[in-house]
Amino acid sequence: MEAMTVTASTFDVIVVGARAAGAPAAMLLARKGARVLLLDRASFPSDTMSTHLIHPPGMELLQRWGLAERVVASGCPPVTGYRLDLGPFAIAGTPRGTTAAPCALAPRRFILDAILVDAAVEAGAELREEVLVDGLVVEGCVVRGIRGRTRAGATFEERARVVIGADGVHSSVARWVGAPITHEVPALEALYYAYWSGFPTDGEFQLYQRGARGFGVIPTNEGLTAVVVTWPVDEFDANRRDLLGNYLGAFESDPSLAERARAGRRETRLVGARMHNFYRRSHGPGWALIGDAGYHKDAVTAQGITDAFHDAELIARALDDAFSGRRAEAEALATYEHNRDTATRPMFDLTCQLASNDPPSAEEAALLAFIASREDATQDFLSVLAGTMPVDAFFNPRHLEKYDAVPESSPTVQ
Ligand SMILES: Cc1cc2nc3c(=O)[nH]c(=O)nc-3n(C[C@H](O)[C@H](O)[C@H](O)COP(=O)(O)OP(=O)(O)OC[C@H]3O[C@@H](n4cnc5c(N)ncnc54)[C@H](O)[C@@H]3O)c2cc1C
Repeated sequence: MEAMTVTASTFDVIVVGARAAGAPAAMLLARKGARVLLLDRASFPSDTMSTHLIHPPGMELLQRWGLAERVVASGCPPVTGYRLDLGPFAIAGTPRGTTAAPCALAPRRFILDAILVDAAVEAGAELREEVLVDGLVVEGCVVRGIRGRTRAGATFEERARVVIGADGVHSSVARWVGAPITHEVPALEALYYAYWSGFPTDGEFQLYQRGARGFGVIPTNEGLTAVVVTWPVDEFDANRRDLLGNYLGAFESDPSLAERARAGRRETRLVGARMHNFYRRSHGPGWALIGDAGYHKDAVTAQGITDAFHDAELIARALDDAFSGRRAEAEALATYEHNRDTATRPMFDLTCQLASNDPPSAEEAALLAFIASREDATQDFLSVLAGTMPVDAFFNPRHLEKYDAVPESSPTVQ
């Protein structure tokens, strides 16, 4: 084993984790002039366990950062339609985009994450790959840096004004600082996916609910389709004994899925996990958590990457305020967490509701059927899923009453 290297405090920020949250945070901070060290135990390009639909607000951020063109150039097809198929009827159509990003895209993570990491390096962040961060440097109650270990076994220590944990749902940084869970909904479902060829999507992000089984269908690079199957969390242990059998067997609950699965070919192994739903305290003296490390939810609504991008924007703004002396660090970080929670909580609640697999109440079923029967309500509802209409703006009685005031357009009930 090599000797330990100890360096002086040369960084403003150390970011642990270089994917959807960490790499853009490093990029934005470096663009603002901060000295940034970006660390990951992985090397890039590399895959990670995640499907990868990026809704229009996430694509808009990539556009603003000057990176959307690189994603499009990867050959990733546009996702122009969204479909929530509930069996008796489907809510299907085109959600609104944003001015800069008309539709969603679903680039493979080994493509997206490499684009983000490259952009962080281009902005001036120092990247160290294949480095395991295995502890924090703490003085008093203040985090002052990290301890790490290279693949070759060399240990090192680096210091910074702030350490950002962007190290995912099982965040070590969160554990080391003792960040408490501030809100939690116990896991509701398990989610498994594989990539298929010859599995048509009509350019749509498709969600199906069939009894206790849910499905997600997402078109991605190289003509492949990510095909997701979910089941309730209380089947998690039992179904692990025959994951593939349970995954493939689920398709029989819908003729269109069964037909596509029979005609198509599964190209990759099956991966997946139990889906956790929680918020963590995400700031303290000398530290912050972003992305899944600070806030995690079921993947059914595919919000994680877009949320991670928003976190990167919020934390970069907060730390720039702190470093430039416009605000005290503690106040700036508290504002980051407050703004994140306020912006995401309605979608967190809706996500948990959709992931619960509870059959809708009579009132909810009537509302969903009503939405499916009207083009305007369909577009609004799908825009909620796409993140271009706030959850609260749609699900409130005054908004829903407005549909009664205008004549019905052509129905989309199947
Ligand atoms: C099955 C599944 C499907 C999903 N589908 C979608 C979807 O369609 N759309 C969507 O928007 N979101 C989806 N998500 C959610 C999305 O994957 C996450 O929200 C997103 O990846 C969060 O990014 P992150 O940067 O916070 O964490 P991660 O992507 O988990 O990255 C964390 C990084 O930290 C590194 N790291 C961890 N610990 C250390 C350490 N000690 N030292 C050094 N490095 C470390 C890891 O190597 C990793 O690279 C899905 C998730 C799952 C599990």
